[in-house]
Amino acid sequence: MVYFLNDFDKKILLNKLLPLARDIGVSPELRGWSWSQEPIKPLYDLKMPMYLTCSKYCPTGRDVYLSMVKGAKPRINYKISLGKLIHGAISDSFLSFIDKRKISFGEWWNNVRKEEIPLIDERMRAFAESIWNYIIESCRVEYENHRMQQPYATERDLMATAIPFLIEHKLSGELLGLSGLLSPDCYDYLRKIIFDVKVQEILNEEMWHRLYTTGYALVLESIYEIPIDIGCTVYISWRGSSPYIKRDLFFINEDLRRWWIEERDQKMETVVQKRDPGTPNLCPEDCIYWDHCH
Ligand code: SF4
Repeated sequence: MVYFLNDFDKKILLNKLLPLARDIGVSPELRGWSWSQEPIKPLYDLKMPMYLTCSKYCPTGRDVYLSMVKGAKPRINYKISLGKLIHGAISDSFLSFIDKRKISFGEWWNNVRKEEIPLIDERMRAFAESIWNYIIESCRVEYENHRMQQPYATERDLMATAIPFLIEHKLSGELLGLSGLLSPDCYDYLRKIIFDVKVQEILNEEMWHRLYTTGYALVLESIYEIPIDIGCTVYISWRGSSPYIKRDLFFINEDLRRWWIEERDQKMETVVQKRDPGTPNLCPEDCIYWDHCH
């Protein structure tokens, strides 16, 4: 259910990850609120975008050099267009339910700024519609479940507890050397879980995808000074026209935090020193910077 955990996820969260986080813990120096001290303190006065800081898509990190040193423009391909559209459908369907705007998928589709998603087609429309309907239905079920359990709760209280999500919450990552305009896909403020959605035609899980939620957890910690221990990467792919959703739920442990800091520092150095890291032996053919490297 995208950001609603299923029974399996809840078992993992309650019986494995939360006890692990409480037992092992995280050293205060690796919490985002220690942003003014090493090792989290940024080495340079830069504002790195989160997507470049965390991406390991380019094996040498040349995408950072091309984007931030050379000012190269990426080529928007089908994969990027699909990701943009589905991210929009997810956030707008949740907001439509939470804000009680109740817009239909058809109304939303007519208002999609198609010029910003150049390769949009009917197949994408079908994918977006299936996700939209699924989310609205999931929200309705959660809301009704809460309403039946708490008959005296106010409307506002019901909505805030049944769907406890900040969707694309605007954050500044400047304390950590990041952009001032960050929007994590979702933050569950009751369970303190940070979510990041990956839209893929074929499921492809990678360990480095965990860096995104790790980065956002550090940013939330730097601003609100509360610990965020759990991250979740939500993979959305399709079997025919039906969405398939798989969640990778994990403890944002010290190893992940150190890895994220290392990535940020290395990429900042690439920018400051204007150092071209070169091309790897093999590049993914759908890389958005392909034309700049081949
Ligand atoms: S084409 Fe290759 S070297 Fe260039 S940014 Fe993409 S992955 Fe990196």
